[in-house]
Amino acid sequence: MKERCKYCGLEIFSNFICHNCGSLMENIDSFSDEIEALQELHFHLSESDCDQQKRLLLHGYIPGSTKALIESGIKCILYIDFNTAASDEPTQSAISRLTTIITKLKILSNNDKDAKKAIIHFDEIISKFRKKEADNTFFGLMLILGGITLIAIIGFLIWYFITT
Ligand SMILES: [Zn+2]
Repeated sequence: MKERCKYCGLEIFSNFICHNCGSLMENIDSFSDEIEALQELHFHLSESDCDQQKRLLLHGYIPGSTKALIESGIKCILYIDFNTAASDEPTQSAISRLTTIITKLKILSNNDKDAKKAIIHFDEIISKFRKKEADNTFFGLMLILGGITLIAIIGFLIWYFITT
């Protein structure tokens, strides 16, 4: 009998990671297993549609060691699209996953130089995205204001020519 995922109940066909919910199926005790599990998760991600990607990014396996966490953050960035809105998927879920990874890295990093560098880098990615979002909102508001002003001017001109 095939093994089933203890979280979502679907049949499992990879070693470590459920392709449907991203949960970890086996206990992991080495760095190489962590990396293999991550690779499986990202293989499933690359094969999934947007809904599935969202689920895998939000609930998918997050490693326990700093080294593998850094790797998972780097892989996660691939799913952040700087040309979309923050509410678009899979960007929104990828940002949420990266935020969780940063938090976990901060707890575990101690004096690990690589972890600190990664935290700064990942934080920058998120701020860059938020800044772009804010700029877009500002630009959108300016467009609306410009539109309203233009309509007011045209309205005024029509009124002026009709009444004079
Ligand atoms: Zn599952």
